[in-house]
Amino acid sequence: MSTARLTIDLGALADNWRALDAKTSVETAAVVKADGYGLDAGRVSRALADAGARHFFVAAAEEGIAVRRAVGPGPRVSVFSGHMAGDRDMLRDNNLTPMINSVDQMLRHVEELPDHAFGIQLDTGMNRLGMEPDEWAALREIALQQNPVLIMSHLACADEPGHEMNRKQLRIFREMTDELDVPRSLAATGGLLMGPDYHFDLCRPGVGLYGGEPYDEAKAVVTVDIPVIQVRDVAVGETVGYSNKWTAKRPSRIATIAAGYADGLIRAIGNGIDVYVGDTACPVVGRVSMDMITIDITDIEGTPDAVQILNRRQTVDDLAEAAETIGYEILTSMGRRYARHYTGADKLAAQASSDALESIQQKLQRKRPQLLREGRAG
Ligand SMILES: *Cc1c(COP(=O)(O)O)cnc(C)c1O
Repeated sequence: MSTARLTIDLGALADNWRALDAKTSVETAAVVKADGYGLDAGRVSRALADAGARHFFVAAAEEGIAVRRAVGPGPRVSVFSGHMAGDRDMLRDNNLTPMINSVDQMLRHVEELPDHAFGIQLDTGMNRLGMEPDEWAALREIALQQNPVLIMSHLACADEPGHEMNRKQLRIFREMTDELDVPRSLAATGGLLMGPDYHFDLCRPGVGLYGGEPYDEAKAVVTVDIPVIQVRDVAVGETVGYSNKWTAKRPSRIATIAAGYADGLIRAIGNGIDVYVGDTACPVVGRVSMDMITIDITDIEGTPDAVQILNRRQTVDDLAEAAETIGYEILTSMGRRYARHYTGADKLAAQASSDALESIQQKLQRKRPQLLREGRAG
């Protein structure tokens, strides 16, 4: 083993989706933008479809292609950036549902794909995507005549449940949509956790599925194992790594492990992060390099073959905190160099096909009297 290994537990991913779904009485979709938060949109979507997800969201139409391929024709695949110039064939051929963000997009959509399903995205204060209240007031009647399948907006501060912005956006969303007979969606992971006022007809969690804050009950989805390349003894007063950032205060054993900032273990995590040898924490010492990190293994016996930097003890949010960023950024920065392993998919697929068989059996059972009448069943 010469490169680090990224293990993605699709069973834990599915469990996180089911656990979030159980917190609502409405439909739970899955956000799989940015290649499934860096974990492979195709595999992630397939696993979530097997777990029962029937609606997926991506950022751009291009991202919808892999998702459609993975989940087959049934589930809805929606696009946050809406209907951009040049998207027509992609939207049509992959049956993607654009969330229309502006009058311009609405015009483009009715001109280029008149009978193709679409949703509406409203801006309720985040000032990022969607129609603002006056724009919506002007377009509303025309847009509604075209039968949108969903009206959605997005919360700016849902990771802080007590933030007044949440209640303000909720009020504006209601004002903009209350009389309408169209399914509505406001909540991502944070909004889902804030309770039923925010659920409307559909929740759209992303980060919580992948084991990230603000869903702190999430199961760990990602594990990273990094092989040890070399171990050396370092005397008191010797330094380790670029810029002499770390100096040995005791005779130390330093191991060099095979991953670095090119693998998403960004340079800023250097301070206060441990790696794990079994249950034992060993501190990262010195600067994180492009392809290597140095760790202090003085307190453990022997030389480990590999260490873990991400596991259930140390999550993407722990790494993010050390680097003063967010778990989302750590996840989506993991990069291409890892040997990737996906676990738990077989079990999910088997469960999904046995669920499907059971529902076919139930249908046949219900239809039996009719089939008997028609002489088609014994
Ligand atoms: C990213 C995103 C989501 C999912 O957000 P999480 O915080 O990852 O749950 C939902 N809706 C929109 C519009 C988004 O951009």
